[in-house]
Amino acid sequence: MDMRAARMHGYKQPLHIDEVQVPVPGPDEVLVKVLACGMCRSDYQLIDGYFPLDLTFPYIPGHEVAGEVAELGSDVPGSTGLSEGDRVVVNPAWGDGTCRQCHEGNEQLCTGSGGWIGFGPPGGFAEYVTVPSRHLIRIDADAGLEPHQLAPLVDAGLTPYRGMKKLRATGRLGPGRTVVVSGIGGLGSYGVQYAKLLGDGATVVAFARSDDKLDVARQNGADHTINTRGKTPDQMRAELRELTGRGEIDGALDCSGAPQSLELNASLLGAEGALVSVGLMGTSVEFPIFLFVSGERTFSGSFWGNYNDLTEVLALAAQGRVKHTVTPVGLDDINDRLGALGRGDVIGRQVVVFD
Ligand SMILES: [Zn+2]
Repeated sequence: MDMRAARMHGYKQPLHIDEVQVPVPGPDEVLVKVLACGMCRSDYQLIDGYFPLDLTFPYIPGHEVAGEVAELGSDVPGSTGLSEGDRVVVNPAWGDGTCRQCHEGNEQLCTGSGGWIGFGPPGGFAEYVTVPSRHLIRIDADAGLEPHQLAPLVDAGLTPYRGMKKLRATGRLGPGRTVVVSGIGGLGSYGVQYAKLLGDGATVVAFARSDDKLDVARQNGADHTINTRGKTPDQMRAELRELTGRGEIDGALDCSGAPQSLELNASLLGAEGALVSVGLMGTSVEFPIFLFVSGERTFSGSFWGNYNDLTEVLALAAQGRVKHTVTPVGLDDINDRLGALGRGDVIGRQVVVFD
């Protein structure tokens, strides 16, 4: 049986829509019929050669996968509770299960031979994909979540969730405090919601360089928004003072990863403030050492999320507490849509949907 798949035939080239054979699941694998696969800026970056990965071409990217079980491998344990026709999402971090990080439950940080679907193992820009059974999470049909809503939750909805948990863990948020979510793209549109849900009552301010994206932030619960385009740190402090009564912030979740944005957020942090970065765009940033040492400010990276983080996100979504800003697109439009992602022209998340 054949299927349609969008494949890389090399770096810096458009994807080809190819007819290829449907993969056969190994003994402990599940054949998943892909119903939706989210499009991430990191897909654009993967094709552009940003990541130090050694892919074998032709290669199918796509790491935000929701679908249904089409076939179970011969040795898939009954304890998975999976059967044909079940709705599932793919937990994207496929650790080797043996290193220290995997034993801590942080398979997304695997330092051994693990990887991530769509960045090594073939991904979801295809009608079918095979997945080791332990990386599937069954979704209750009663939850009323459509595949195009579920798919982005495994990265765009997951990554800022883990980042916001890290910010909360610093203990710097609370009533009268200010938490910023900067970069309101696919991740940030969820990030502002987690700032409200997990921010312990802190005032939520969204930063972006586009008014359309700031509209999404407001719809998703941001108390205030600031368009940062062309503004100096002093101008930002003045606007913050006007909006919140204070010219500084206590926490920032940077979803853009742009050095400009990280440096701006760092300069606005008050004493003991925390900056968490989940975005990947530039290569390096400069932070003032004296500010970080003398005021005990902190910076930390936060990468994707682990299995339990994802089950928490799915629980919030099942309770109807997550807003989805999603545009379904067809596989044939994938190159055009990836180009828009690269230019930063996308509001919310684009998701490839299959019939
Ligand atoms: Zn590992």
